[in-house]
Amino acid sequence: MEEDIELTKEIKEKGIEFGAAKIGIGEADRCDKTPFFFTSPYTILKDAKSMISICVNYPEGILDVPSDDPFVFLTTFGSFRVKLQDKLRDIASSLVGFIDERGYKAVPIDPVIPIDERRWFACLISHKYAGMMSGLGDIGMNNALLTPEFGPRIELATIFTNVPLKTDALFGGSIYEGVCKECKKCADICPTQGIDAFKKPPYNIDLNRCLWGTQGWMLLSKIEIPPDDWVSARPTVNTIIPKYKGRYPKIKEYQAWQEEYGGLPYCMKCIIECPYGKKE
Ligand code: SF4
Ligand code: SF4
Repeated sequence: MEEDIELTKEIKEKGIEFGAAKIGIGEADRCDKTPFFFTSPYTILKDAKSMISICVNYPEGILDVPSDDPFVFLTTFGSFRVKLQDKLRDIASSLVGFIDERGYKAVPIDPVIPIDERRWFACLISHKYAGMMSGLGDIGMNNALLTPEFGPRIELATIFTNVPLKTDALFGGSIYEGVCKECKKCADICPTQGIDAFKKPPYNIDLNRCLWGTQGWMLLSKIEIPPDDWVSARPTVNTIIPKYKGRYPKIKEYQAWQEEYGGLPYCMKCIIECPYGKKE
């Protein structure tokens, strides 16, 4: 496959001009047959050749707001997150238009992808996995994509295209091996004890424990460690949610906000506190 060096350069420049903080490019094949049940790029675009990973970052101060007060959190971080997601949509649609004008096909994947419970809470694709496969960074102990410039304080979108673009090299070395194994901060501070510091990502997160935090139950109940029946619920915590909805009816309000604010996570401690890429 002959790479189109000139168009690669133009797409990267346009991405930055449209507002991206970083653009990474990978071969579409790098996201085919992943071990995590993600949809193949070829299901999305039959003759996909490349993927473009678009990254925008949070200004540092936005993540310093107190997350224990939902009203403060929603009207500061929450609304800014929606704006960043809209910005990603604008950048992606402008890039798709640019590629279309050059006579190629391009399909954008929205920054907010609904969760598919049949796949154990996996999504259609993982933007962070695509970002890693496009050379933007590496997955850390907190299971986020860590970038050298912004750490995990980013939002991502992905485009699949049939342009044969020049791919970026994968991130050199393992951040997990070189930084996380020494740091372990996210595992130490996770309020639900959801991160196992001695296992490698992505197999070190207890999804049920993390959902207790991110879905808002921890904030509502003021209990950090989820109860045993929540931790052991299988196949997913959905089997036990009706019981907890009865116990904490206010969750409806939290869920409505979550929907309105693009899948807003009520816990982000392991992202906010991660020292990687943080400005002094
Ligand atoms: S907090 Fe430390 S261990 Fe966790 S992801 Fe960040 S750098 Fe890695
Ligand atoms: S989002 Fe919160 S609950 Fe989930 S792993 Fe990170 S710190 Fe733990």
